[in-house]
Amino acid sequence: MKTLTMDKVCYKMSAANEPVLRVAANETFRVRSQDCYSGNLRSADDKFTKDMWNTVNPATGPVFVEGAAVGDILKVEIQKIDVADHAVMNLSEGMGALAHRIGANETVILPIRDGELIVCEGVWVPIRPMIGVIGVAPGGGEEILTGTPGEHGGNMDCKQIAPGAAVYLPVNVNGALLAMGDIHAVMGDGEVCVCGAEVAGEVTLSVSVASVKLPTPAVENDEWLMFLASAKGLDECERMVLDKAHQFLCDNVGLGANDAARTMSLVGELRICQVVDPLKTMKFMLPKALLKDIGWGN
Ligand code: CA
Ligand code: ZN
Repeated sequence: MKTLTMDKVCYKMSAANEPVLRVAANETFRVRSQDCYSGNLRSADDKFTKDMWNTVNPATGPVFVEGAAVGDILKVEIQKIDVADHAVMNLSEGMGALAHRIGANETVILPIRDGELIVCEGVWVPIRPMIGVIGVAPGGGEEILTGTPGEHGGNMDCKQIAPGAAVYLPVNVNGALLAMGDIHAVMGDGEVCVCGAEVAGEVTLSVSVASVKLPTPAVENDEWLMFLASAKGLDECERMVLDKAHQFLCDNVGLGANDAARTMSLVGELRICQVVDPLKTMKFMLPKALLKDIGWGN
């Protein structure tokens, strides 16, 4: 099986990045990634320093997907995420939504034992590995730092980007140029202190051109189809994800505008992915069971 090693990294999503791997549609392959600190925080003595900003959020790739052409939608199916036996978290001064309540610059190495992350004495959390950064090259020659989320994907920190899920991304350049990293052993909605359980790992996945049309970025799992958007403020995020879900129900499912709105109000879930990256990210989730009933999907 083709395996992309964790040294093949980029720090920008860009059409100018040379592909480091080519894959065919539906071919299963592996991508290894360093943790979001590029492995630079190895013990409690390692502090996060300003110069480390240049190497945060390395994304492994990009991967050229054969047959993916501009205008297509890329479907990335996450089969498995294996993580290292320890995660790292750093709290730094002024960072995150809890900055005013915490002590500055503390690095902790958290062991993972039998599927649980040991956070501190008495606090063991079951791991639920997920991918924080996953995206494609933006169009129009734009370059976006891997730490920033957007319409191309990127640092969305959506905890449902996990084994069994499919991620839908726009194809802005031929081959899509997919890259990913920033694996978390576990993370809660919001990622309030800036980091999840940051961990090195290996993703097993396959990619194809989606046979369905839908607004992107989107994530699908057994239970939910969700639309994601990122913006400076949560108000704007909210409007963007609601527009995407409404557009989907009208244009792709065929509901009338008011029926779509009522449906969203009754069974949709508006939730936060993260509030700590350069842009914030929200998701609007529609239950798959209902979509199946009204004829979308399989
Ligand atoms: Ca992240
Ligand atoms: Zn992270």
